[in-house]
Amino acid sequence: MNQPLPGAPHFTLDELIRSDIAQTYGLDNTPSPTALERLGELARMVLEPLRGRFGPIQVTSGFRSPELNWYVSLDRTSRHCRGEAADVLPLAVGVGCPRLALWAASHLPCGQIILYNYERGWVHLDLAQPVTLSPRLYVSQGLRSPVRISAEDLTRLIADGPLARNQPNETC
Ligand SMILES: [Zn+2]
Repeated sequence: MNQPLPGAPHFTLDELIRSDIAQTYGLDNTPSPTALERLGELARMVLEPLRGRFGPIQVTSGFRSPELNWYVSLDRTSRHCRGEAADVLPLAVGVGCPRLALWAASHLPCGQIILYNYERGWVHLDLAQPVTLSPRLYVSQGLRSPVRISAEDLTRLIADGPLARNQPNETC
């Protein structure tokens, strides 16, 4: 479980299924064989390219069993439950979530990319189905629902500076 995933040498299965909330509440967060396969694709096609571009990436929430998802999200059909989504945080100094989201939107085979709480938040990415290179980019602030944004407008937001100070968690 702590061995690197095939095609994604900087990520382990442990990182993609670990959950403080599951541990705290004793929830089983074991992926099905199908979810396991999708987690591998997510690591290889999305997480590893992010690592290659931005350096170390922390996965704050990867796979969620339906039981765990019930605790952390209002979305009962979350892509996290199928092993097809991860919430991430770049760890290198000078790399912010907005830049990561913007780059991902033009380089990775994602379906949705959601930038939560700008500079002080995290980024949700999920695998496109089928694989395409036309992700939909959203921003979300506080408890507001994600709002679609163009790459041009996000570029302008990045230029305008930080907008929020919330911390990353497992709630998207
Ligand atoms: Zn998410």
